[in-house]
Amino acid sequence: MILALEDLNCQIYGCRKCRLWQEAKHGVPGEGPINAEVMLVGQNPGADEDETGRPFVGRAGKFLTKVLAENGIKREDVFITNIVKHISPQNRKPYSDEVAACLPYLNTQINVIKPKIIVLLGASAKDTPRLEGIEYMQVIHPSAAMRFNNMRDKFREQIAELAERMAAISN
Ligand code: SF4
Repeated sequence: MILALEDLNCQIYGCRKCRLWQEAKHGVPGEGPINAEVMLVGQNPGADEDETGRPFVGRAGKFLTKVLAENGIKREDVFITNIVKHISPQNRKPYSDEVAACLPYLNTQINVIKPKIIVLLGASAKDTPRLEGIEYMQVIHPSAAMRFNNMRDKFREQIAELAERMAAISN
């Protein structure tokens, strides 16, 4: 199964199924354990992610990692990815044909990892495939939570709820 993900990552690095690869430095497949119980899904990589090839490593990612840790969740225990695996020009929202072209990769990741909980980071993660037997949680995007006080409090509550749900499924 690890091979299945490695294979998928190679496909993403070489993917030309939509226009987004053209201006990107790196594909960003996502990272985390193959048997992660929790998967976090955002919209698409930003500049820091494009530079490094890793998901959620910029300011919003650091904030996310910090709030996870405050609630006893280690970043390295969850699988973090995005709906779309290459950055968009000027960081615009991915177009629907780009989302449609890229979604099969996320679908495969979900099928291989089989998480128990999928956390949708922001409304734009709404296109994440819905599979039976998986709990879905919609939370505020960490970049919005970082900027606005009221959203930050709500985001912290949502991640605390995630920690509770994780504790419930592992008991
Ligand atoms: S964004 Fe997705 S579909 Fe488009 S080129 Fe990259 S990996 Fe392929």
